[in-house]
Amino acid sequence: MKQIVACLVVAAALAATIACGAAARTLDIYFIDVEGGQSTLIVTPARQTLLIDAGFPGSGTFQSKPGDPRDARDAQRIAAAARDAGVARIDYLLITHFHADHDGGVVELAQLMPIGTFIDHGSVPPEAEQNVAGTLDAFQAYAAVRAKGRHIEPKLGDRLPLKGLDAIVVSSAGSTIVKPLAGAGGHNPACAATSSPGPDAQEPHENPRSTGIRLRFGKFRFLDVGDLSGQPLFALACPNNLVGPVDVYLVAHHANVDATDPATFAAFKARVAILNNGATKGGAPEVFATLHRAPGLEDVWQLHRSENAGADNFTDDRIANLNERTAHWIKLSANDDGSFRVRNGRTGGEKGYGAR
Ligand SMILES: [Zn+2]
Repeated sequence: MKQIVACLVVAAALAATIACGAAARTLDIYFIDVEGGQSTLIVTPARQTLLIDAGFPGSGTFQSKPGDPRDARDAQRIAAAARDAGVARIDYLLITHFHADHDGGVVELAQLMPIGTFIDHGSVPPEAEQNVAGTLDAFQAYAAVRAKGRHIEPKLGDRLPLKGLDAIVVSSAGSTIVKPLAGAGGHNPACAATSSPGPDAQEPHENPRSTGIRLRFGKFRFLDVGDLSGQPLFALACPNNLVGPVDVYLVAHHANVDATDPATFAAFKARVAILNNGATKGGAPEVFATLHRAPGLEDVWQLHRSENAGADNFTDDRIANLNERTAHWIKLSANDDGSFRVRNGRTGGEKGYGAR
């Protein structure tokens, strides 16, 4: 009798495991609206969480100070995405670089949910304050929270410790990989048409130090390089294509003009580009023009309709927020065969992209 009972318990547990496994087999990525900063919540098939950046502090400017987490615009938006995903903690927080539109929301977020391990490139040079006032204060506030958790400063080519995913560091602290990733490495013919070494970074001190990752789940590939711009972004694509093709590219630096080099789009060959632009932050007309012409690009999804003069926006059904009164996300769910779906949080409209 005992044996039969034990068997039933095992069978029930097994069934539960299978059911859970079936429900959680996708890789889910929430592109959260933080009004032209970055916050990207990645939930793995094993239900681990990687948050890439945490938006702005407080009311949402570079000079805002962290305050009551109940009123924190961006930390609350991240918490809402986590609730939607059914997760209650951030296992890994990757801060791509130390500007307040990326590290600013951490102080408040840490009061809303536990953060396990902090991943970043260590520290910020003092001259970063020159171009972006508030940078050093934001870093000090972030570093105080980081000091209470585990901290990893990954080297180029390191893999983030996520189960079932391959998340490899392609840029950090101003350097980029010199050996191509598997499947990449050929000469990029599009480089010849552009002026080496690409456009200068608008902000030369901290954006080019962004920690970037190429994440792979089975055949699905996603590239997020934060605000990498200028020479290091160009170096990933020219003269040789070191990253290779990806399915989805979160366009660098909120689609500012220094992320517009056509050679980068030719190298990454994304099927879908995502813009984490704001109403006027990022979303340069030059990037829209490049994206409308980019060969092989099937769709562009925008967190915001751009109000910048000359910005040739994509159609409204690909735009999560038509103005600053709403804060909808774009949600992507990927399968290990490389197929994925993208959902507009505002309209509920979805589009599927089949395996190639
Ligand atoms: Zn930024």
